[in-house]
Amino acid sequence: MTYDFDLFIIGAGSGGVRAARFSADFGARVAVAESRYLGGTCVNVGCMPKKYFVYGASFHDEFRQSRSYGWKVEEQGFDWQNLLANKDHEIRRLNGIYRALLINSGVTLLEDHARIIDAHTVEVTGKRYTTERILIATGGWPSVPELPGREHIITSNEAFYLDKLPERMIIVGGGYIAIEFASIFHGLGVKATLMYRKELFLRGFDDCVRVHLRDELLKRGHDLQFNAEIARIDKQSDGSLKVTLKDGRVQETDCVFYATGRRPMLDNLGLENVGVELDERGFVKVDETFQTTEPSVYAIGDIIGRVQLTPVALAEAMTLARSLYKPESYKPLDYNLIASAVYSLPNVGTVGLSEEQAREKGYKLRIFQTTFKPTKLSLTNETERTLMKLVVDAETDKVLGCHMVGPDAPEQIQCLAVALKAGATKSCFDDTIGIHPTAAEEWVTMRSPVRED
Ligand code: NDP
Repeated sequence: MTYDFDLFIIGAGSGGVRAARFSADFGARVAVAESRYLGGTCVNVGCMPKKYFVYGASFHDEFRQSRSYGWKVEEQGFDWQNLLANKDHEIRRLNGIYRALLINSGVTLLEDHARIIDAHTVEVTGKRYTTERILIATGGWPSVPELPGREHIITSNEAFYLDKLPERMIIVGGGYIAIEFASIFHGLGVKATLMYRKELFLRGFDDCVRVHLRDELLKRGHDLQFNAEIARIDKQSDGSLKVTLKDGRVQETDCVFYATGRRPMLDNLGLENVGVELDERGFVKVDETFQTTEPSVYAIGDIIGRVQLTPVALAEAMTLARSLYKPESYKPLDYNLIASAVYSLPNVGTVGLSEEQAREKGYKLRIFQTTFKPTKLSLTNETERTLMKLVVDAETDKVLGCHMVGPDAPEQIQCLAVALKAGATKSCFDDTIGIHPTAAEEWVTMRSPVRED
C-alpha cells in the first residue's frame, strides 16, 4: 500500500523537529503537525526564555559588584515589560528558524491539532492522512496536585507571560524549575519564597551540592521554607492570596507558582484507537528503538519519561531517524553520563554519579572537594563561594562524577562530560596543566582527597 507519508510526526518541539529534519534528509516523506508553537517547550516556555530571564536576574549582582571595580552605577530600576517584549521578539525569531528548518528540509508542516485515527492514519483539521509510521513527540505539560484553590496558581507556562511582576510570590517545588525561578524572581526584586515539601531540595543531586546551594541562596537573602506543604489557597477581597500550610501556618502572597513536575502531554491524541501502552507513571512505553507497543507508532522525548532534557530528545530523534532510514549509521542511544545544569544563581552543573549514588552502587571512593571565593569577587565584599567536587573510584582511579556550584558551572561541566565519556581517571586530571587564573583550573589541582574509603 502507498501511504501519503512515510513518517507522520505529532509535535514540533525539539524532538519532533529534529526527527523530521533527519528523516527527510535521509529520504523519507515527512509531515509534522503542531497545534501550539514551533520549537515546543524549550523554545517557547522552557530552556530559552528561562535562560534570558536568568541573565536578566543576574545583572542585579553585576551592578552591585561593578562598584568594587570602580564603576559608578546607580540602579535605575527594572522594567519587566521591556524584558518580556525583548524575550518575545527573540522567541518569534526562533519560531521562524524552526519553520524555515522544516520547510527547507521538504517537510510538510500542518499547524493544527493531530489525532490518531488508526495505526496508519492521522487526522488534522478534518483531513485524514495515511502514513507508514507515526511518531508521537508531544512533550510534557506542568503537573499540579489537586488542592482547594488550585485555580489561583500559575505554572511555568504562565510565568513567562505575567502582565506585571508581583511584589510577593510563593514558588512550590524543589526541582529544576522551582529553583531556577526562585533565582529569577529573587534577582528581579520579587519577595520570593521557595516552599519544598521535604528536608532539602534537588533530590537525587549530590548532597554537597544541595547543601552548598541552600547556603548560597540563604546568603543572598532567599526565603527557603523546607518541610512546607500547602493545604489550601484562598483569594482575598484585595486580590491577594492567603496560603494555608498543612502545619497550620498562614502566609499572604500575590502569586503562587507550582513547579511540581511535568506530565506527558497525551490529551486528545486518539491513543485509544491504537495499541499504545503507557507505563505505571503514565508515560508512553517504548523499546530501545523507540517503538511503542503498536508496531507502526514510535515515541520520543518527554512523553517517554526517561530523561526530560532537550538534548536527550534531540539524541533520541537522531537515533530513531537513523534506525528507520539510515540503519547502517544506527547505534543505540547511550543514556550514561548525561550532564545537566540548574540555572540557579549561582549555577549548578553536574555529570556522572553523586557520592551517594556511587556508594549505593558499592564503589570504594576517594572524594576530592574544594570551595573558594571566585576571583571575580576578590575586590568585593561578597561572601559567595564556589564548590567543586570529584567522585573517584578508589580501585580504578576512574572519575565517576563531577559536581559544581558556581558561576558558569554548566559551561565547565559540559567540557568535563567529554572527559568522563572518554573514561578519564583522576591521574588524567592531575596530568592536565591548568589555565591560570581560572576557576576551572581547580579541577586539575585538587591533590588530596577530603574523604577516602
Ligand atoms: P522535577 O521533577 O525536577 O521536580 C519536581 C519537584 O516538585 C520535586 O522537588 C518534587 O518533590 C516536587 N513535587 C512533586 N509533586 C509534589 C506535590 N504534590 N507537592 C509538592 N511538591 C511536589 O520537576 P520540575 O517541574 O522542576 O521540572 C520538570 C523537568 O523538566 C525536570 O525533571 C527536568 O528534567 C526538566 N527541566 C530541566 C531544566 C534544566 O535542564 N536546567 C530546567 C527545567 C526543567 P520530591 O523531590 O519530594 O519528589
